[in-house]
Amino acid sequence: MANPQVLLADLNAGRCSNVAEVRLLRYWEARNVRKGGELMSVDMLFVDENSTLTQGSVSANRQLRFRKRLSEGSLYTLTGFDVTRSNTNFRLCDAPFSIRFNEGTSLEKITASARPIPTELFRFMPYGRLLELANTGKQLPDIIGELSAIRSTITDRIAGAQRVMLTLRLESGENVCVSMFDSLALAFHTKFDSYGREPKVIIATGVNPKIVGGRLFLNATSSTHLYFDSETAAGKKLFDTLPGHGAVPGESTSKVVHAQKIEPMTLSELNQFIITAESQIIEFLCTAKVTGIQQDEGWCYIGCSGCSKKLVREISSFTCLSCNETNAVAALRYRVALSVSDNTDTASFLAFDTEMAKLTNLQASEAAQIVGIGVDAQVDTELPQSLADIVGKTYTFQLKLNDFNFSSKHQTFTISRIFPERVLAPMPAFVEDGTVPADAQAGDLPHGTIGNVGITSTGADKPTTSDASTGKRPPPAKDQDDDDKTAPKKAHVE
Ligand SMILES: [Zn+2]
Repeated sequence: MANPQVLLADLNAGRCSNVAEVRLLRYWEARNVRKGGELMSVDMLFVDENSTLTQGSVSANRQLRFRKRLSEGSLYTLTGFDVTRSNTNFRLCDAPFSIRFNEGTSLEKITASARPIPTELFRFMPYGRLLELANTGKQLPDIIGELSAIRSTITDRIAGAQRVMLTLRLESGENVCVSMFDSLALAFHTKFDSYGREPKVIIATGVNPKIVGGRLFLNATSSTHLYFDSETAAGKKLFDTLPGHGAVPGESTSKVVHAQKIEPMTLSELNQFIITAESQIIEFLCTAKVTGIQQDEGWCYIGCSGCSKKLVREISSFTCLSCNETNAVAALRYRVALSVSDNTDTASFLAFDTEMAKLTNLQASEAAQIVGIGVDAQVDTELPQSLADIVGKTYTFQLKLNDFNFSSKHQTFTISRIFPERVLAPMPAFVEDGTVPADAQAGDLPHGTIGNVGITSTGADKPTTSDASTGKRPPPAKDQDDDDKTAPKKAHVE
């Protein structure tokens, strides 16, 4: 005599010996990055005929018994399991109860069901709801959108942390950024490369909305699965509405922007990268302490009030070559060479007006005056207190490396942004408590991070480990040839 059927919505806490007929939508590994990526459990998402989503979990020591039987999209009868109250954080479904496999659990694949069990189910949420959920850690919604850009660090031979950011345009028109790190980023690339063309529609499940620096990021978690184009009915529906869906003859514009390597690096890695990598334009994040302000070239220059470029001093006027203006209005601008160090190396970073003014809350023109005009113009060279105050502080610098950085003569890195330490773009989700990935952390990039890959149903990737190069090299040469437009020579008192 078969056990009676039970609907997921009717589960009660305790041991359940009734039979649930369900479809396994997705499964993934929950790993503990703090314990070297140790597997904690294999987690699952089930749906039944009433479209009730319920999470299931089998502990690491029991998962082998079930692992081979797990097949995403397949139907199962499930009986003899424990029903526990759902975790209230990082929810992938609204069911009050979750299923935990025990030693007596039976999970049997069935080929068909008389019950109309949905083949897929997503929890798409409108943009406004994503904003509401951001930083709350309450829900991990699913997202669907038209792919408008892929920014990827995975192009080079540099070992270590990887990141992929997908810009998706929602049907409501807003753009969101899905951010994937390390093994998830690599898994995206594996799927992407094997897909054979660039997808137009992407679904990402179980993302964690975070607002960092005023921007919404949807961080992939270990539960995240990615589906392209028509791999799902929901994806196909959107895909079919796009103009020229399918293969568009003559379309050649790739949405992939490679080498947007905006990721943390140590100074030692940075110095090494310049030596070993091929010349390219690339960005990095580097957290370092300001150890001094190099004053041999002053801290400011006389720039054009219109375009900020260095002015040419004439007898009694300034000329802006860029604006083609012989009577240009002068404005004092910052150009500050910072000596920086972290515990791996030292370097010189060059900061320009916008970033320095933001950092010091003081315009260069408020910190000193230009007295006189043209060749007679003078500026007080004394270092303003607001600048002196940044010595000893630690910041995260976003550095833009240009081709010239790759010639050994140019070892001054131009700063494109300065962040207070630890206010960074979101970092990978950690797995904390055995259910769903925990919070995303701003700050240091974890070395050896999420082990799970939710992209293929075949499972696990090894946690990647950042292979930080620690080779010491001498501090960069102080050769500061002017790089371009913005870099004047002696702009202070003459
Ligand atoms: Zn100008």
